[in-house]
Amino acid sequence: MNETNNWAEALRTRNLKATTNRVGVLQTIEEFDKAIPHSKIQDRLQKVDRVTLYRTLNSLIESGMIHKVSVENDEIFYAICSQKCTTEEHNHQHVHFKCTNCNEVSCVQSNSIETLNLPGYKIESFEIQAKGICSNCS
Ligand SMILES: [Zn+2]
Ligand SMILES: [Zn+2]
Ligand SMILES: [Zn+2]
Repeated sequence: MNETNNWAEALRTRNLKATTNRVGVLQTIEEFDKAIPHSKIQDRLQKVDRVTLYRTLNSLIESGMIHKVSVENDEIFYAICSQKCTTEEHNHQHVHFKCTNCNEVSCVQSNSIETLNLPGYKIESFEIQAKGICSNCS
């Protein structure tokens, strides 16, 4: 089974139609390895117009397949979600790390992050941000 089929399958299990655009966006984000800036997704998918790309990204966020990473003020990054994310909630027990040297943004897993519990509040998203020097640069 190739990757296109994997993504198509993952989309269907979340009740989303496996459109070319959705599969294309997911593949583009996955191939980038790190969190990918919005402008780079647009660069790589030039056939997809701005509004369509925006809608495609939003539908993938709402279905728990990708998440926004907002460590940069001027640009939104996107990354693939783990299996734990659902259409109900995003569950990201990882750090969004911005390297101040190479400017890359990564999702970094850490065992020391606990689930946040705020009695009486319903958490829809939860993000931990850190800046510093990444493992490639140090
Ligand atoms: Zn998520
Ligand atoms: Zn770096
Ligand atoms: Zn992340």
